[in-house]
Amino acid sequence: MSKVIIIGSGLGGLTTAYILLKNGYEVTILEQGMQPGGCLQSFVRKGVKFETGMHFIGSALPGQTMYNMMNYFGLIDDVPLAQLDTNAYNTISLAGEEFEFANGREAFLQKMASYFPNEKDNLSKYVSIIDRIAAASTLNSLTSDQRDLAAQTEYQLRSINDVMDELFTDELLKNVLVGDLPLYAAERDKTPFSQHAFIFDFYNQSSFRVKGGSDAIAASLIKSIKNMGGELFTRKKVTKIHCNDTQATGVETQDECFYPADYVISTIHPTRLLELLDTKLIRPAFRSRINNIPNTAAGFAVYVKFKENAMPYMNTNYFGYSSNTPWDCEHYNEDEWPKGFLYMHGAGGGTAEILSYMKIDDVYKWVGTSIGHRGEDYEEFKRRHAERLIAEVEKHKPGFAQAIDCYWTSTPLTYIDYTGTEGGSMYGVAKDITLGAAGRVPYRTKIPNLLLAGQNVNSHGMMGVIVGTIVTCSELIKDKDIYGHR
Ligand SMILES: Cc1cc2nc3c(=O)[nH]c(=O)nc-3n(C[C@H](O)[C@H](O)[C@H](O)COP(=O)(O)OP(=O)(O)OC[C@H]3O[C@@H](n4cnc5c(N)ncnc54)[C@H](O)[C@@H]3O)c2cc1C
Repeated sequence: MSKVIIIGSGLGGLTTAYILLKNGYEVTILEQGMQPGGCLQSFVRKGVKFETGMHFIGSALPGQTMYNMMNYFGLIDDVPLAQLDTNAYNTISLAGEEFEFANGREAFLQKMASYFPNEKDNLSKYVSIIDRIAAASTLNSLTSDQRDLAAQTEYQLRSINDVMDELFTDELLKNVLVGDLPLYAAERDKTPFSQHAFIFDFYNQSSFRVKGGSDAIAASLIKSIKNMGGELFTRKKVTKIHCNDTQATGVETQDECFYPADYVISTIHPTRLLELLDTKLIRPAFRSRINNIPNTAAGFAVYVKFKENAMPYMNTNYFGYSSNTPWDCEHYNEDEWPKGFLYMHGAGGGTAEILSYMKIDDVYKWVGTSIGHRGEDYEEFKRRHAERLIAEVEKHKPGFAQAIDCYWTSTPLTYIDYTGTEGGSMYGVAKDITLGAAGRVPYRTKIPNLLLAGQNVNSHGMMGVIVGTIVTCSELIKDKDIYGHR
């Protein structure tokens, strides 16, 4: 039986382990943190739970792609879902007006056309293009083997704003349609339209929060992994991947344990992975290319516990902007911050999270300090930014500030500490059309038995990571029908 060591226990590591165990591999997962799950971790304060990196998922109605995937991973019974308002799963607040996204192609079109009647035909074209792109990926759609390569290629190479400019004349509509861009940290002139299309399709089919918190996804996968004989060890930071002249032989952890391996699968940020490799098999040009791929923006979050019965449950994801555009919120002066935010309630109510971009440079002076020991000036920095973010939400949602009982915060440093992501980046490496193939992180390396999985190789998020997992596993499992339900 081949022995696989997986580095990292986030969604990428856990789903990779699940598939390989199901297909007869011996699997050990090594996780640096005290809690498994990576971005699926949650934390509890004053008796309430907060999610850190997975707040809602899409396409999860019976028959839809994520439902089928969740079914394959044994998640359906363990991960109860709460559907977002089908008439308004997203609310975009721009230029003093609110615009709602309704689930389903027709309902979405009807609602958007009611706001922008002159653009009705263009909206139909827009949705048709998205349908074509989504269907062109057999894994994302699980519907067809007929790949529309032309659609895939064209929209991977064109930026979101380029396509929007071609389709629409109304500037406000163009901005409304990208109002949820914090979900993928899109950047003007850089992020491919295909990325926008996949996210739109994923959530437009149906959108759900996880009742009780998205850590249930990690808990369920870990239960299944253990039932299948897999091992998971926390507080096991991998510090080196050992290689002979031709391949990897195993990994070493900070506590000086050695784990021999036939295959090593890394689900950590590629820059972190390269730090573990001191071998001629990895060429300097590859190192330099990977280390130069830009990363998605980092974030600052405020986790809110409301006073009892002070705030009714908000069953939509609310994207608020201080100006009339969602673009460029990652670029700001100190006085302008925050230019935009995402405000969400926890399933069932009682809690909320506000998320806004934050540059790593803003917290640079505390890099290298450890959680809980960063000093009073760091605490003051967090308080000041939390109050500004709360004040910004209050402008859009009067009464919000008064309803808060207490709050906690996280900065880009928190994500560096809990997931090892580069620069606190929320979604790992950025998709950038200006870089072409040089901007992609490969599944394979020159070390034949070292593979990569996780959010950096295909895309982030519940769907992006699972699709990447399937592609990586198909390097080992030749049977194409890994997930067996097409
Ligand atoms: C704020 C935020 C909100 C998000 N919201 C959503 C959402 O609503 N819906 C959605 O679908 N997606 C969302 N995402 C994205 C999604 O959570 C991630 O794409 C996904 O969970 C990443 O999984 P992963 O396994 O690739 O990486 P991670 O979850 O980062 O896991 C990597 C793991 O590797 C471990 N590790 C790192 N280095 C080492 C080492 N040397 N040795 C051992 N272990 C190591 C880390 O500790 C970590 O546990 C969000 C992300 C963020 C940050």
